[in-house]
Amino acid sequence: MLIHEVLVVGGGLAGLMAALTAAPKADVAILSKIYPTRSHSGAAQGGFNAALGEDDSVEAHIFDTVKGSDYLGDQDAIEVLCSEGPEVILELERMGVPWTRTADGRVAQRSLGGAGFPRACFAADFSGHVVLHTLYEQVLKRGLKIYPEWHLVALLVEGGQVAGALVYDLPRARLEVIRCKVVILATGGYGRAFAKTTNAHANTGDGMAIAYRAGAVLSDMEFVQFHPTTLYGTNILISEAARGEGGYLRNINGDRFMAQYAPQKMELAPRDVVSRAIFKEIKEGRGINDQYVHLDLTHLGEGLVAERLPQVRDLSMRYAGVDPAKAPMPIEPAQHYSMGGVRTDTWGMTSLPGLLAAGEVANVSVHGANRLGGNSLLETVVFGRRAGLKAAELARQEAWPALSQTTVNRARQSLVAILDGGEQGVTEDTTFAIRREMTGIMTGQVGVFRVGHELEDAVKGLERLKERYGRLKPPGGRQPYNYALMDYLEVGYLLDLCEIIARGALRRTESRGAHYRLDYPRRDDENWLCHTFARCGEKGPEFSAGPVKITRYAPQERGY
Ligand SMILES: Cc1cc2nc3c(=O)[nH]c(=O)nc-3n(C[C@H](O)[C@H](O)[C@H](O)COP(=O)(O)OP(=O)(O)OC[C@H]3O[C@@H](n4cnc5c(N)ncnc54)[C@H](O)[C@@H]3O)c2cc1C
Repeated sequence: MLIHEVLVVGGGLAGLMAALTAAPKADVAILSKIYPTRSHSGAAQGGFNAALGEDDSVEAHIFDTVKGSDYLGDQDAIEVLCSEGPEVILELERMGVPWTRTADGRVAQRSLGGAGFPRACFAADFSGHVVLHTLYEQVLKRGLKIYPEWHLVALLVEGGQVAGALVYDLPRARLEVIRCKVVILATGGYGRAFAKTTNAHANTGDGMAIAYRAGAVLSDMEFVQFHPTTLYGTNILISEAARGEGGYLRNINGDRFMAQYAPQKMELAPRDVVSRAIFKEIKEGRGINDQYVHLDLTHLGEGLVAERLPQVRDLSMRYAGVDPAKAPMPIEPAQHYSMGGVRTDTWGMTSLPGLLAAGEVANVSVHGANRLGGNSLLETVVFGRRAGLKAAELARQEAWPALSQTTVNRARQSLVAILDGGEQGVTEDTTFAIRREMTGIMTGQVGVFRVGHELEDAVKGLERLKERYGRLKPPGGRQPYNYALMDYLEVGYLLDLCEIIARGALRRTESRGAHYRLDYPRRDDENWLCHTFARCGEKGPEFSAGPVKITRYAPQERGY
């Protein structure tokens, strides 16, 4: 058995920030199923929001975020996010982040969707990459213990308190128990639940599903963000930075169609608005080949594209064969971000004592029904830092929680059965077939436009897939790097989450932010200005409603 006071699960921005903050005051270890620097955070291009500009203000950032969230975000949490933004950007700079500069040497900022000011701090279009590497250097410098390629498979809960984790060491094919006082989940999102997604293969929602199974509350899972601009076919993200630097969206007639949907903000309206507009253009016959629209940067000039958007250019040339400085890129919307997650307070505390969460796995909730570009990276560092502070405090105050051999054995046994390949259900079915059908259902029926009867079909289809999954023969095998085993576990996590997302979307009979119901096209504050909570019951998720914290801004109609 290994022992650490604080176990941080996840080596992305939220996890590394939490670990660095907790480390001076507690014994901290980082567990990450992929090498930390390969975390999805490294793919982020656009930037980190913070109200640094002379004309900008924390107040304006708060208002934009509340409005962007379609009034579902908790305003106390949004106040924390926006007020701590500027100082955390400077803290990152002191750690060594080379932010892109203005001519007079200040941190440069670009416009992203739904923001009243250029507010996103960036490093060309490698923003996530450079911050991830900077934090990782700090982790190395301070000699923190890292368990790379170790997977969290279950939380060990004794008397309602998290007392440790069951983890699988993939390179050595071993199960291990890590005893701890606090677990911080920073395991990112579940994008791989969808066939069309910008997310990395590792984004399979493990932490959300494991926390849910252990008794933690998930919230607002029906809110899934679809990014308007991903390369047609591969769904590789073309960052909002491309529109922030002045890119236009055009239909088959060459028209900037956003003029009809968001006359003021145009291409820089929030993502839910732009994604719906693109689908509508395609559906009404104004798409190209009836499949996609164009993102046009040709008027920006080769110099600006090369300097500010080098990664966008490279991705488009490699994967679409188009040099965006010379021709428009073919783009379509795809799943991008998990607004819902493990419910936390503003210190990362979940409903389960001893369990904290931060970053995309968490729902604190600062994004409500729709996240603004640049607010997620900010969330990872602001709330990662707060979770780290809270964990160190708990590690100092709390005694070691009890952890009995019975609890450990129970958790171990279910995993050992999987490792041994189990007896049950020799079927022709495969994890791959189930995954393909699941992701097809999610993109096809639980996507940008939703409607009651399709959501009902989706729920039934997912139920059938869960039954089939239950009959699968576990892949077994105790050889190192058994990815078939990890795939099997990950599809199990995703099925749990898909069920909660689809059922939550069916329950919510209104349209708000990214959740758009064709059969209920209006926002309904009277009945639905509330969070959705989901708990793991005997027969699947049990739902309830919770109040939204409104401190300054009463809901208004949301126009751009
Ligand atoms: C292509 C792309 C571009 C983006 N651009 C922007 C942007 O410009 N601005 C913005 O604000 N947001 C952006 N986002 C969103 C933002 O990048 C993410 O929300 C954020 O980086 C998530 O960070 P995280 O630390 O929560 O999780 P991640 O970076 O996803 O890290 C998750 C970590 O958890 C670990 N993990 C997962 N499961 C397990 C397990 N079972 N056991 C052990 N470890 C596990 C993984 O190894 C990984 O280290 C973008 C997202 C994408 C996909």
